[in-house]
Amino acid sequence: MSEETTTAHGPFDLVIRGQRILTTAGITAREVGVRKGVIVAIEPLGNGLQGTEIIELGDDETLIPGLVDTHVHVNEPGRTEWEGFASATRAAAAGGVTTIIDMPLNSIPPTTNVEGLKLKREVAEDQAFVDVGFWGGAIPGNKKDLRPLHDEGVFGFKCFLLHSGVDEFPHLDADEMEEDMAELKSFDSLMIVHAEDSHAIDHAPHPGGAHYSTFLASRPRGAENKAIAEVIERARWTGARAHILHLSSSDALPMIASAKRDGVHLTVETCPHYLTLMAEEIPDGATAYKCCPPIREASNRELLWQGLQDGTIDCIVSDHSPSTLDLKDLENGDFAVAWGGSPRCSWALSDLDRSPAPRHHPGAGGFLDVREACRLGPPAQ
Ligand SMILES: [Zn+2]
Repeated sequence: MSEETTTAHGPFDLVIRGQRILTTAGITAREVGVRKGVIVAIEPLGNGLQGTEIIELGDDETLIPGLVDTHVHVNEPGRTEWEGFASATRAAAAGGVTTIIDMPLNSIPPTTNVEGLKLKREVAEDQAFVDVGFWGGAIPGNKKDLRPLHDEGVFGFKCFLLHSGVDEFPHLDADEMEEDMAELKSFDSLMIVHAEDSHAIDHAPHPGGAHYSTFLASRPRGAENKAIAEVIERARWTGARAHILHLSSSDALPMIASAKRDGVHLTVETCPHYLTLMAEEIPDGATAYKCCPPIREASNRELLWQGLQDGTIDCIVSDHSPSTLDLKDLENGDFAVAWGGSPRCSWALSDLDRSPAPRHHPGAGGFLDVREACRLGPPAQ
């Protein structure tokens, strides 16, 4: 929305009036005119825009722009029973999200060539309740597919630096990632990285059993820190744009800030669960909380909030990644067995609203700031 977006007084298909309308001027009293699904007028409350349908908001209701969630796994085709486009986009709409960007893995086939992308688009077309865009995937051996996927409209390419969780989406080593980054640099695309280091995870304790602390130890901060250091240096060497997905380890914030100061083209996201939950409160056996990288300690969480407030972290995304209930192994509660993902996009915003952020950052607006951080996903650099 823009304050400049004004036009004649109507009639509009829809007019929304309220005391709390979020625009570029902040939260103000406004009337919003909509024609053919597009906002064409934003005027001061009282100007009397006329519409076929008029919605008067209550004093405690706030109208905000639709959110963009750039980290959503829709597993259709192939694993539609985990999550398909109809359910994912309904969940997004319920959470105030009007655009999702779909991750390239967990569907079969994955989005690692143009054929896979076309298949995704075909199945999404008649089912989507919100706008849908697509990430491509960078896996061993598909360098030749990156440019065609870019030309077909993917927003960038995801790679893993350790096993992805599904065999049909193998991971890259750091040298392979660098090669692909150099390729992406040639057409100014973006590499988005699941940054946990394979060797570090191999040397960590086994996650077996019901203790959350054991699972946490199996995904140490060091694995994230090491992988993020690789992403930073390879982005520095190639000049490519890179994005760190779902940052959990606050240890990495200083080196991220340093790389940004150096002019490395780097952006970073984190997720509501890392900002609102803490390892100390996760009960043993509660595999619903399993995600990778893991939810860490309260002290780590506070530092992530600081990283968000000082701009080291650029945005908040959901990492919506459902599975069927049986895959979460809820009866046994074994963290080694359970799928590492959860449905998130329908309540990401309400989770953040209940967060303690404003308490820790009294100078910030809290409510407004959180929406700004959720708004864009990986920003243009
Ligand atoms: Zn994900």
